Amino acid sequence: MKVKRARELGFCFGVKKTLKLFDDMGGDSQGVHTLGTLVHNPQVVQSLKERGVTVIGDVANVASGTLTITAHGATPDSITEAKAKGLRVIDTTCPLVTKVQKIAHDLHKAQHQVVVFGDASHQEVRGIVGWTENTALVSTDAKELVPRLIAMTRSGKRVPKRIAIVSQTTQPAPRFKQFISDLFDQLPDDFREIQVHNTICEPTLDRQSAVIDLAEEVDVMIVVGGHESANTRHLAEISEEEGVKTYHVEWPDELRREWFEQGGVAGVTAGASTPDEVIDEVVARIESY
Ligand code: SF4
Repeated sequence: MKVKRARELGFCFGVKKTLKLFDDMGGDSQGVHTLGTLVHNPQVVQSLKERGVTVIGDVANVASGTLTITAHGATPDSITEAKAKGLRVIDTTCPLVTKVQKIAHDLHKAQHQVVVFGDASHQEVRGIVGWTENTALVSTDAKELVPRLIAMTRSGKRVPKRIAIVSQTTQPAPRFKQFISDLFDQLPDDFREIQVHNTICEPTLDRQSAVIDLAEEVDVMIVVGGHESANTRHLAEISEEEGVKTYHVEWPDELRREWFEQGGVAGVTAGASTPDEVIDEVVARIESY
C-alpha cells in the first residue's frame, strides 16, 4: 500500500515546548504533578507515568511538590491556590492559549458577555472560563445558546448589549463560521454588538487545511492520535466530511488489513499530541500491507 502523509501533522510547537520541559527535568520526576492530562495521547501519558509524574484533577488533591500547568492552561484561581499552598508552579500554558485567556479576560472586564465556542468539559475551555470570573457561556450550538443569552436579562426578552465570542484553539474552522452565522440568524433584532475573535490556533488551522487537501489525493485516510484528543477527532471528522473513508487509530495494532483491500493510496495525518514514532509505526504497518 502506498502512503502519503499530510504536509502538516503531529506535534505542534505548544506540545513540543511542554514535553521539552519534562525532558529537561531528567528521568526521575517523583513529586511532579500535572493539572489534568499533559497531552491527550496514551503513549506520552504512559511514559510520564513511568517516570513518576502523577495527574491530578484539582489543586486540592496535592499537598506538596511541583505542579505543572499543561499547554491547555488553567484558571487563575487554581494557580493562586497552588502558590498559596507552597507548591512550585511551572506554567507551560501554550502562548496561543494564553492569548485567548487574555482576550476573554479583557472583554469580560469591558462588560462583554463572553461566549466560548468549545467543549465545556475540556481543560482549555474551563481555564478560559476561569479568566472571565466564571461568567463566560460555553456552547457549540447557537440554537441552544440564544435562549440562555436571553434568559440572562431581567425582562427575559432582550439579549446582553455586548456579546464577544472566542473559540477553543482546536475547534474545526468551518464549524466556528457556521456557529457565528447561526447566531446572527437566531438572535432577536435588539442585539447591539457582537465581537468575534477567531482564536483557533495556526497549527490547528494548518493541520485542518492539510487534511482537506490530502483527502483529494487518497483512497482512504488514517488519522493517528489519542481517542480523547479533540483536535485528532476533529481531523477525522473533517476528512470524513470531505468524502474519504476515514479511520481514527491510537496504535498500529488497531489497523485492519481489510481497510486497504481496494489498494491505491492511504493518507496519514495525526493530531497535535501524537509522537512522531507512533506516526512512523503506523505508516510502516500500512506500507507492509
Ligand atoms: S494545539 Fe495550538 S493552542 Fe494547543 S498547544 Fe498546540 S499550538 Fe498551542
